[in-house]
Amino acid sequence: MSFRWNCYLLIVLLFWGCQKPKSIENIVVIGGGLMGSAAAWQLARQGEHVLLLEQQDSVYTFGSSYGDARISRALGPKNDLFTYLQQRSVEEAQLLLNYLEEKTGQKQSMDEVYHTSPVTYIYYESEKMAFDQLVKNQTIPTEYAVNASDAQSKFDMTVPDSAMVIREKLPYSGTLNPQVLIHKMQQGIRLAGGSIYFRHRVNQLIRTADGYELEVENLSDGSKQTMRARRVVSAAGPYNGQLLKDIAPYVSELIRPQRVFLNYFKLNAQVYQSLSEDQQAKFQDYFPVADITQEIMYAMVENWDDDGSPVLKIGGHYLRQDITNLDNTWKKEVTPAEEAWGRDHLVRYLNQIHIPVTAEDLVKTNAHSCVYSLTRTETPYVCSLMNADKRQDPNLVLVGGMSGIGAKGTLTYGLIAANILLGKEDPAPIYHQVTYALGFQHLISDLKENED
Ligand SMILES: Cc1cc2nc3c(=O)[nH]c(=O)nc-3n(C[C@H](O)[C@H](O)[C@H](O)COP(=O)(O)OP(=O)(O)OC[C@H]3O[C@@H](n4cnc5c(N)ncnc54)[C@H](O)[C@@H]3O)c2cc1C
Repeated sequence: MSFRWNCYLLIVLLFWGCQKPKSIENIVVIGGGLMGSAAAWQLARQGEHVLLLEQQDSVYTFGSSYGDARISRALGPKNDLFTYLQQRSVEEAQLLLNYLEEKTGQKQSMDEVYHTSPVTYIYYESEKMAFDQLVKNQTIPTEYAVNASDAQSKFDMTVPDSAMVIREKLPYSGTLNPQVLIHKMQQGIRLAGGSIYFRHRVNQLIRTADGYELEVENLSDGSKQTMRARRVVSAAGPYNGQLLKDIAPYVSELIRPQRVFLNYFKLNAQVYQSLSEDQQAKFQDYFPVADITQEIMYAMVENWDDDGSPVLKIGGHYLRQDITNLDNTWKKEVTPAEEAWGRDHLVRYLNQIHIPVTAEDLVKTNAHSCVYSLTRTETPYVCSLMNADKRQDPNLVLVGGMSGIGAKGTLTYGLIAANILLGKEDPAPIYHQVTYALGFQHLISDLKENED
């Protein structure tokens, strides 16, 4: 071999030697919102070494899980899958807290995660069938009023003539705090031996002969590295389609991100102070609420201000808009018309529960845009994805399309994702029904619908 070739060989060998060896991870979970944190926790507690990658810092500023309150509710028709998802999630939350208490010696309370309060639903004549199904043989403790005068006498509520009211009363129904839950799940991941890298964004995910390759950017210093993983969970919320563009391009057609908006209001301090004790207690007792109009107005206490008064959050489940640029959506201003919608609907409800306020008494404290990830049927996906020959890839799991309903079932979605990846089952028949409803067949049938 000539001297020149020897030099080339030496340079190549030196270059190789200097390159960071690619790490091989057992399981990488992408996305540290509610779903990714739940999946990573459920894997870590079963002894799997997990790496959770999140592009944001440990303090979240955007993402579908952003905020301090989500409605936690169990009510549904007989054998409702979402009832199971919520109820199992409550049980799993208790297990998580038990684990944290055991490992840290610090007392944990479910009341840090959940705020128990009645959940009020207002139905109308057009939804009477759904109302009847809910109250018939209901196992969740409820009280209900079948018309306006019934609502007046039972709940001291003045609702339209065509309205019916149900009140769900169950421990851990009310609201849950996503930020607290995420924090606790991430604490659990670390205590169980898992790792979390914040400010690490996966720019590319591809399949290799023996697993997956991820191009990961450290957003703190701009450096990039290639990681290898044996198994992957994609839990990137509205970014799932983008993340999976090379490996499962069809996901971006199945999950449609849509903008929704939220308004936050307080009562003018003087007005709040002038309310009687009973009236003030109504903020505890009559929130959260879901008013089942076409828009589905929902409102809840986001948090309590330092002066002891509630900050109320209001949104419309069906007030959605197409998105042109996902990254910009979070910064999109809430318009005056959207603010007025929130103000009017909140005042209307406050008056229905006999809190004598006007629109002017509401002080806007915040407003922001957020994103729903929608599937065709609005039923989420927790399933393995297809590999190149269109078979189920047991090593790649998607948790996505969570719409506006995911939070209450967080730990169950995470459990299902973990079980799929580990090839585990749960004996409860309802678990099978749920995994079927969220599973691969659901994804395939949505794909077929899309093709037709
Ligand atoms: C306005 C609103 C109200 C809601 N109300 C309720 C309610 O009352 N009750 C209820 O049960 N549910 C509710 N939900 C639904 C619930 O909040 C969501 O289902 C849930 O938060 C979805 O969590 P996620 O982890 O899938 O998504 P996200 O929270 O968006 O998490 C995804 C994470 O992935 C990260 N990420 C994305 N791409 C990458 C990448 N390439 N690399 C690294 N990280 C990445 C993101 O930064 C993000 O943190 C509501 C949702 C919204 C938007």
